[in-house]
Amino acid sequence: MPLIFPIIIKRVVTLIVDIIFPCFCVNCNKIDTLLCNKCFEEIEFYLNYPTISIKELYFDEVIIACKYSSVSKKLIHEFKYKSVVNIKNVIAQIIYRSTNFPNLEIIIPVPIHKKKYNQRGFNQTEEISIELAKLSHIPTYNFLSKTKETQSQMSIQNREKRLSNLSKTFSINKNVENNLRELYASKNISFPKTAILIDDVLTTGSTLNECAKVLKNYGFEKVIGIVFASK
Ligand SMILES: [Zn+2]
Repeated sequence: MPLIFPIIIKRVVTLIVDIIFPCFCVNCNKIDTLLCNKCFEEIEFYLNYPTISIKELYFDEVIIACKYSSVSKKLIHEFKYKSVVNIKNVIAQIIYRSTNFPNLEIIIPVPIHKKKYNQRGFNQTEEISIELAKLSHIPTYNFLSKTKETQSQMSIQNREKRLSNLSKTFSINKNVENNLRELYASKNISFPKTAILIDDVLTTGSTLNECAKVLKNYGFEKVIGIVFASK
């Protein structure tokens, strides 16, 4: 009996929240869901991932959940630019359920620059990483920082320019690193050597590769990139 009350309270709260903030399918506007079953079925999942043509690869593998096409594009757009923050659950569920999620030691989101963070109010990959941490029980930390402001990778047409645009852009977040070193030392467990890097959209793979480079140079032995959608 005592368990029924919390359930009832939760349902009432959910109902109130739904009445005040009803949700709609991002693709067809069907009420009561952020993504309806019909639109979910339109998502194009990969059988074979596209090849990443970068000469020097620093990540060990890249896993991509789906193609960047109508439905996935809308999910990203509503999440990033219209701040429908609950979409993070939908994206994380799609990533987790559609990929063979690797069992590595820590999840690290691809960072955004502080200025962009302040404009948007959140880092989309951090939000997705938090949800993935709940699903996978692998801890997530903002281990990387974006120290240089860059032009959006998506807006640069020339490949060479895209690569030079990113050079020396990312670095280890020293505060997080110090806290983590202390935390792991206090628990008497060795510092992680394997990491999952999370990004929302993959264009050329250069952002992910630059982040993996920083982690490998730091001492990580294995870095697997996981991306929601790829162009
Ligand atoms: Zn729909």
